[in-house]
Amino acid sequence: MLKGRELAAFRKQLLSWFRQSQRDLPWRRTRDAYCVWLSEIMLQQTRVAAVIPYYERFLERFPSLHALAAAPEEEVLRFWSGLGYYSRARNLHKAAQQIVAEHGGKFPSRLGDVLALPGIGNYTAAAILSIAFGQKQAVLDGNVARVLARLGAVRGDLRESPRWQELLKCADAYLEPKSPGDWNQAMMELGATLCSPKSPQCLLCPVTQFCEGRKLGIADLLPEKRKKRATVEIRLAAAVFADERGRTLLLSPPEKRNVQSPADHVPTLASNLWHFPTVSVNGDAVAKLRGHLRKLQVRDRNSSFRFVAAEKVRHTVTYREVTVEPFRISVKKLPRIKGAEQVPLSEITVLPVSNLTRKVARAALAATSSAQ
Ligand code: SF4
Repeated sequence: MLKGRELAAFRKQLLSWFRQSQRDLPWRRTRDAYCVWLSEIMLQQTRVAAVIPYYERFLERFPSLHALAAAPEEEVLRFWSGLGYYSRARNLHKAAQQIVAEHGGKFPSRLGDVLALPGIGNYTAAAILSIAFGQKQAVLDGNVARVLARLGAVRGDLRESPRWQELLKCADAYLEPKSPGDWNQAMMELGATLCSPKSPQCLLCPVTQFCEGRKLGIADLLPEKRKKRATVEIRLAAAVFADERGRTLLLSPPEKRNVQSPADHVPTLASNLWHFPTVSVNGDAVAKLRGHLRKLQVRDRNSSFRFVAAEKVRHTVTYREVTVEPFRISVKKLPRIKGAEQVPLSEITVLPVSNLTRKVARAALAATSSAQ
């Protein structure tokens, strides 16, 4: 671990590099805790380029913590629609209401209070407290851990507890006490730009002289690979009704309907948002879908529904590889399903829906046009 003069030089070089070369990102133009919090939540598992338009639209609609707390959850989810990991939006909304109820609408500045908010763990709390309030809290996530592991030539699985504890100590020791917010962002920026997972650009790195991983020629081999969880394949079938006006049916999130979805994977994969009637299949998809529609009390007199297969949709969520078989069912009048809403098939995002549901709608629309 770096100490004394070496540590001082390391801090100075990294900070001055960050101050000169940092990317101009919308959330870096403010120290407002609400904006910092929002950006940190959106950036979890999501690329910067994908976050920027969402961040800007979200702040336009919910310009303050009070505005967010006062909005209906459905509206918040609609502005999150397409960004994925929807529990982030639900927690953000709940946390905003908690801040209004318990802190008069002012984002708390005590670590314990911040950690008591839903959806905020150690990393996010440290990021907000250091950037918005200048507190000495070092961040450590996978990105920063990779930089530290390379700097110190740390081998093995970084997520194993003793190793992670060592990295935490290291992150704390390196933190620049006079500028903790900038320091944390500098570490994140180095990990996101030059010290990237696959090919670290050591020749351009402002702290290359302090890097043990580079000196040993093993920088690009670190961190060592974790054991991968086995992939699980999931097959689903979805019923996409379409009436003569181009309207379709979406089911409300399972928790709202207060019933257990018969397809175990469906609520998770649809992120507990609005979705097409969907069921897990392992044999005849149409037969299974007919059975599912019967359970939803959709009447199909004389088996007159025609199930037109659209192109299969593939979707990967962490270790799950999902294949959805969408079936378009053209009807004069949409059937009635308790808790379902009628929306235009070409504009299903008027309701909060997941990326998977969007892909299914696109496939069904393409099937509509190719059938014409
Ligand atoms: Fe990362 Fe290379 Fe810089 Fe080391 S020298 S911190 S491996 S970019």
